[in-house]
This record gives sequence, C-alpha cells and structure tokens, in this order.
Amino acid sequence: MGLIVGIPRALFFYQYYPLWKTFLEELGAEVVVSGNTNKKIMDDGVGKCVDEACLPVKVYHGHVMDLKDRVDCLFIPRHTSISRNEYVCPKFGGLPDMVRNTLTGLPPIIDVEVNLRKSRANAMKAAMEAGSFFTGDAGKIKIAYRKAMAAYKNYRVKIKRGAFPGEVPGCLGKGPGTGGTADYDAGSNHLKIAVIGHSYNLYDDYVNMGIVLKLRKSGVNIITIDMIDDDVIREKSNLLNKKPFWYFGTRALGSIYHLLGMDDLDGIIYIMSFGCGIDSFICDLAERKTRREKNIPYMVLTIDEHSGEAGINTRLEAFTDMIRWRYCNESDFSTYGKPVYKCQGPI
Ligand code: SF4
Repeated sequence: MGLIVGIPRALFFYQYYPLWKTFLEELGAEVVVSGNTNKKIMDDGVGKCVDEACLPVKVYHGHVMDLKDRVDCLFIPRHTSISRNEYVCPKFGGLPDMVRNTLTGLPPIIDVEVNLRKSRANAMKAAMEAGSFFTGDAGKIKIAYRKAMAAYKNYRVKIKRGAFPGEVPGCLGKGPGTGGTADYDAGSNHLKIAVIGHSYNLYDDYVNMGIVLKLRKSGVNIITIDMIDDDVIREKSNLLNKKPFWYFGTRALGSIYHLLGMDDLDGIIYIMSFGCGIDSFICDLAERKTRREKNIPYMVLTIDEHSGEAGINTRLEAFTDMIRWRYCNESDFSTYGKPVYKCQGPI
C-alpha cells in the first residue's frame, strides 16, 4: 500500500485540491483530507497558532492537527508565486516552517517550493521534486503531472461557469464546508451580487458563517472572482495606476474594475479576513473605486474566530432588503411629486 498523504482542507485547498489529489494518487499515494472546518478545528488552530496570524492561517493549523495522527506525511507546499511577476502572500511561503515550529508530533512534511514568478516551467520543477518523495521514475512523475493538470483545468472550467467547489461532481464533496448547497434554486434569483474575497473564505462555510449559503438561499445570484475570465481580470488590472505585486490584490482589483462595468450588478460584498494585511488595503482601494464610479451598495464583512451569527445575519438581511427597497419603493418618490419609475429592477 502507498503512503497516506494528508492534505489540510484550508488555504489553497479550494484552488488546487483536484490537481494535488490526482498527482499524488497517480504516484500511488492514498490521499486523506481533513474534515470540514468546525468549532474544534477552529479552536485548535486559534489556540496553537501565533496571535498575529490571520484567521485562515490559524484555521490551517487546526486542519493540520486534525490530520497529523492519521497520515504518514503531510502535503504542505511552499507557495512563493503562482503567477508571472506576482507573489502570493508571504504567509504561504512560510507555511511549512510556521506549522513545523508551532505544532509538535508531526509526520514528515512534503514542502516543495512553487515559484512561478519568472516562469510557468517552474511548476514542473516543483512537481519533479514532490514526485521524488514517491518514486525515482521521472517519466512516471511527468505523466502524473500532466494528468493532474488536466484534472485541474477541468475543475477550474466548472468553477468559472458558476459552480461552487462543492457542486463539482467527484471533487470536494457536496454540502456545507465546500460552498455547495443542495437547495439552491437558480430560477428564483432576483439580485446579482459580487462577493469578493479569498477562495478559502468564500468556500469554507464554517469560517464565513454561511454567508454564501445564506445569500443564495435568499435569492441572490453570486459572482466571485473565480467566475471572471482571467484574461478580463488581467486586462482590467492593467488600468491600475500601479499594479499590486500580490496575486490576490491584482485579481480582486481587476475584478472590481470589470464588475463596475456591468449594468445589472446590484451590489458588492467584500469578505475580509481579520488580520489580513493584503485585505486591509485592497478592500479600501476597491471601496473607493466603487464609490467613485458607481451608485451601488458596497459592504465589507470582516470574519474572525467569533462564531455568533446574529451580526452577520442582520447585515446580510439589511443589505439585500435595502437593495430591494431601493428598487421597489425609494425610487418611486420623486421630488416633483410624481413617481419616476416603479419596480424596474429585480425584486
Ligand atoms: S492573504 Fe491575508 S488571509 Fe490570506 S494568508 Fe495572507 S494574510 Fe492570511
């Protein structure tokens, strides 16, 4: 039997799991994923990780703890860069070291560096290094990598078309914890709202306190960064006076520029992680741009380790009610005494 490799269900899991899983299984490994985030995983991570870390990194530590005693090794790649001339947040680069120096009783960690800042070809280099943990056969590693890339592209196409990770068959599994919901009725959508944020915040329903599920249940059609074409994001991000050198910053701002050009967008919600340096000012730049360019509601929701949902529920309800009220009632009051128009937008 092959090595049992543990993959924490956090951070880039929602982006790369199909790639990692296919690659490792092609090399004979058995892949085990930590459970959906829950109170224990969150509390374990928050309890062990340094206070200064952002929420998603703390949650990541909780997932490692969930896995560490039932696997032969952990897969924790060191992501320095995943796109040309951009960097991922430095916390991704130091993740294996952070985990190693925080938690005890860990199995060996596969911590190859992924650095595509100068060339995409470096992805193969990382794959060869990771594959060497399992086999000395370079040809086998190359085949595994090609199959993994095919699985990854297939997954990303589905996400781009509007699926959430939990809704891609045979991928992460349907239901809570994966952004999926069984009772979503696309036919009943009335509002179109962009939800901007890191994939690990959008798709982890425990961490975001079900924001995505709640919006969808209340008849909101959600647009995420992942659903916007990469070429469009790149083109729009070129309009920035100065491009951020962070991958996420470029994608978030490029998406905002694109979204503001849409006529049927009803509002923007930015989900911000407590303790995230990148969010703290990308969110502000996005808000300024939105307020300058368009008369649509923009709301920031900061998520942290608190689990009380009342505050989030109230804000979501107020946000969607306010948009519907504007469409149906407020625009009906004309300063000239006559209705200007009535219920022209979604209700
Ligand atoms: S980008 Fe922000 S939320 Fe993500 S790991 Fe870095 S600091 Fe944390």
